[in-house]
Amino acid sequence: MSNVRTEFGFERTECSCEECTRYCVYLPGALIPTDLDAISAHLGYDDIVRFAVENLLASPGAIVSINGFRIRVPTLVPQRGPGGACKFLRDNRCSIHAHAPYSCAFFRAEQDQREAGARSLRGLQAIAREWSAGGIYARLWMLLHSMGLVAPSPIEARERMRREMQEKKKRADGMPRKA
Ligand code: SF4
Repeated sequence: MSNVRTEFGFERTECSCEECTRYCVYLPGALIPTDLDAISAHLGYDDIVRFAVENLLASPGAIVSINGFRIRVPTLVPQRGPGGACKFLRDNRCSIHAHAPYSCAFFRAEQDQREAGARSLRGLQAIAREWSAGGIYARLWMLLHSMGLVAPSPIEARERMRREMQEKKKRADGMPRKA
């Protein structure tokens, strides 16, 4: 039997290229409901609320079409360090790699768009179900939000990533070439 981690029938991805780790710096991936127990247990927590307060943020989340309706699905994401990067990013590597959130572990920068869309939809559907059922995922989100533990919107974070990448490229283009 294969030991590769799977969710919704998808196999996890393995990539630590610069483009993939850029997301750890600017846009840490969202958790799906099953990630809560997996990551908190991995980090040695026996209290899910404490785990959430010490490690997660409430994100406004993504807008998605589910059953023909466009809805926003608020998500839980990892907290960020002082520079804005994911708190689990250490020495440019994920310190919880084996249990990384679904939106980190099942995506990569060079993924086929249809594949990425299908994976994203399944994750968001699982989160949306927690919202309609008033599950722990939704309740933790509301708690963090009420405490001001809130992440920047993905649109804002993507814009920051785009701006800083452009500036970096400009600086690199302006550097004198080695003889
Ligand atoms: S949890 Fe790991 S893979 Fe996900 S953003 Fe953080 S460091 Fe990157």
